[in-house]
Amino acid sequence: MVQNPIFAYVTKHLNTHKEKMEAQNQPIKDTEEYRDHIATIDDRGKRAWIRPKKPSGRYTKWRTIVSWILLAFFFITPLIKINGNPLLLLNIFERKFIIFGILFPPQDFHLLVLAMLTGIVFIILFTVVYGRIFCGWVCPQTVFMEMVFRKIEYLIDGDYKAQKKLAEAPMSSKKFFKRLLKHTVFIVLSIIVINTFVAYIIGIENVRKIALEPIGQNFGPFMAMILFSAAFYFIFSWFREQVCIVACPYGRLQGVMLDKNSVVVAYDNVRGEPRGKKSKKAPIEGEPVMGDCIDCKLCVAVCPTGIDIRDGTQLECVNCTACMDECDTVMDKIGRPRGLIRYDSLKGIEEGKKKIFTTRVKAYTGVLSALLVLVSFLLLSRSDVELLVLRARGTLYNKVDETHINNLYNYEIINKTTRSFPVEMEIEGDFGRIEYVGGNPPDSIREGVTKGTFFIIVENEKVKDRKTDIKIRISSNGELIDKANTTFIGPYR
Ligand code: SF4
Ligand code: SF4
Repeated sequence: MVQNPIFAYVTKHLNTHKEKMEAQNQPIKDTEEYRDHIATIDDRGKRAWIRPKKPSGRYTKWRTIVSWILLAFFFITPLIKINGNPLLLLNIFERKFIIFGILFPPQDFHLLVLAMLTGIVFIILFTVVYGRIFCGWVCPQTVFMEMVFRKIEYLIDGDYKAQKKLAEAPMSSKKFFKRLLKHTVFIVLSIIVINTFVAYIIGIENVRKIALEPIGQNFGPFMAMILFSAAFYFIFSWFREQVCIVACPYGRLQGVMLDKNSVVVAYDNVRGEPRGKKSKKAPIEGEPVMGDCIDCKLCVAVCPTGIDIRDGTQLECVNCTACMDECDTVMDKIGRPRGLIRYDSLKGIEEGKKKIFTTRVKAYTGVLSALLVLVSFLLLSRSDVELLVLRARGTLYNKVDETHINNLYNYEIINKTTRSFPVEMEIEGDFGRIEYVGGNPPDSIREGVTKGTFFIIVENEKVKDRKTDIKIRISSNGELIDKANTTFIGPYR
């Protein structure tokens, strides 16, 4: 039976610990106990509120910088226009997608699907190699929770001890004011975030309309914005880390994506155990030689999901690096090298070597490269205008006069830009001429699909076969923009 690598890691880690303790005739701690519950639910089955210690250190500093960049991108992007188009628009209702100012109409949906597939393979590959780094550094849930909402909470309620004291204190004017201030800020922030988020779907102009016009004119969208804002406020003021622990599907997939070579936030049990307070006296012979972990539990206090990383890699760990920073500070204080909790793999900790390019990683890299080449090719060969010409169903040729016959065609011109421009269509080679039904050619095409019908009229003597392959060219101001293949049906010869 193939054993889950996380389970294998924990078991092995515990066995190593057990062997060391047994060898030293020390009582063995029941470190398996953490499996029986999750940190956010207490013994009575009620929510146990996690109030993590405010993190600080080099990783927290870098994560803060990355978060500010991501937040700036999130709030500024809907305001940026390229050639009159938004930088990013994902209008699922009208099936209109604009990415980096380029319009992807429904006809290009296959490109979006391929791009999404490539993104999924990239995330899998990234997770196999670097574990859950995405969760800790760029996931919107972590960025908003740890870098925005939690920071506001530290600012208003203080650090974890002050928060606990405030929560346990009876209601007073001070507590009421703090709660009112915090939740008012949370609600305003939720409304701002949801308005920005919706701007990615319906465009900033429509969001402005909903916000500024009388409610009755946009009652449905207005109510939707209120509901989304309420849901966002609920998630970040109450549900919080439960999203990562019980709701996020990516988190649930860690068990199958990680292996013993994946780099995760890991506690070095080889170096850290047996844990315990250090004696300043020289070790007496026969007494256990303690590991570097002084069992201060600060790595637990700082964890936003309430776990003890010393129990091994767990699904609740979002790789936020807070415990790494906290433990580094402890190591600095006791004069031991940093990195007792660090980015490393199970193999790296046990054998002291990291192997990144495993067979699995090579296979995923191959698939990802192939997908990237395909998406790049399709994107580069994508034309702004697409012409489709189909002979009208169920029709054959018609006799126009003694010397000419015709065929009837339907055409579609798909303009993938947001501009209008003039076009002309012609038959390639000296084969015949186009006559539009209704008389008028499509002199200017606008964003979207322009449809119409035309006849192709050909001299009898030019039709040599029952079926002749022909090409229709579409140009704008004399410049060829696309070609369409079709056939012309003539009489049996
Ligand atoms: S912070 Fe470091 S030293 Fe303190 S309990 Fe955690 S692992 Fe041990
Ligand atoms: S164990 Fe460490 S890295 Fe994982 S969530 Fe807790 S503090 Fe963050």
